[in-house]
Amino acid sequence: MSTLATRPITHSLHYSQEVLNRVSFLRKDPQFLEEALAHSETQFVPFSDYLPLVNERNGLLMKLHKSEVFKFMGPEKFAQKLIFLGLLFSNKSDFVYKSRYRGTPTFALDVSNHELDALSEPFVKLGSFRDLNRLTLEDSSIVSQARMYLQWLDSHNFCSICGAKTLRVYAGTQLKCSNGGCVSNHRVSNTCFPRTDPVVISAITNRDNTKVLLCKSGAPRNKERKLYSCVSGFVDPSETLEVAVAREIWEETGLTTDKVEILMSQPWPFPNNLMIGCVAVCDDAQYPDLTHDCELDEVRWVPCSVLEQILNQQEGPSGFIQDENSGLNLPNDKSVAHMLMNYIVERSKTSSH
Ligand SMILES: [Zn+2]
Repeated sequence: MSTLATRPITHSLHYSQEVLNRVSFLRKDPQFLEEALAHSETQFVPFSDYLPLVNERNGLLMKLHKSEVFKFMGPEKFAQKLIFLGLLFSNKSDFVYKSRYRGTPTFALDVSNHELDALSEPFVKLGSFRDLNRLTLEDSSIVSQARMYLQWLDSHNFCSICGAKTLRVYAGTQLKCSNGGCVSNHRVSNTCFPRTDPVVISAITNRDNTKVLLCKSGAPRNKERKLYSCVSGFVDPSETLEVAVAREIWEETGLTTDKVEILMSQPWPFPNNLMIGCVAVCDDAQYPDLTHDCELDEVRWVPCSVLEQILNQQEGPSGFIQDENSGLNLPNDKSVAHMLMNYIVERSKTSSH
């Protein structure tokens, strides 16, 4: 039996709780895909314009069987719109491949531009970032994986070398150039893989771990919400994660850091990032300088005791924590930024004893 009969690692961050055994080596196995697609238990998770459909009654992801899909989509379109996601971890599943790999085969299905009146259950299409926040951890992880594939496939319709159309292979998990003469078809690595962009996000604390530097972005979308958060940015080519953190901190705040700790990561499907959560230590005697890349409006050292009280508040209607006393709006507890701030607060309690 599969060595991954249960979930490998549980993670409480949104989009991060893996519920599928991806069996990535089976994506290229036509017999596996044929058996998976033919099995009565197999489920198809519908997406329309990259957004999931949820059951109106219970708020859970819609999961359709093939007979239901064929009420609104023909077999030819169906084959083009599938992405294999994995086997849902379950010891009770009747689907077992080669006596080893058990679990309910789960596919994402792009149902954009299809008339869905024939579905037997009432559903709603989620439409915003805040809607996605209301998904269960398990559902959010399936949505994240599917969204990343769907957006990547739709934005790579043509070969980046010769411009010919690309073809979806291995149940939508890779792309290949349709031009047999294209140089991309004569190399060892001749397919196009889905892309994930690494983004470092770092909370900043001082040397004795008593304060956190909160950073207010100067981006137009932050003018109204006035959110204070961490420093973040894309990792540059040929840059270690630690160096990327130190560079982003200097570019945004003018502070230098000599200690970076990598703590956690979170998939972020907007559209295809992997957030890498870190904590950096900066000497708080340094004078901040926000004039290098001018991304921040303001930075503020906040004592851990004050920050703890704010972090413990419920999120407001805006989807953020809004503290009227301090005027500090903070990310909610589903974000890696919140977890990083909380990590420093918790550590300050142990280091002060
Ligand atoms: Zn090509």
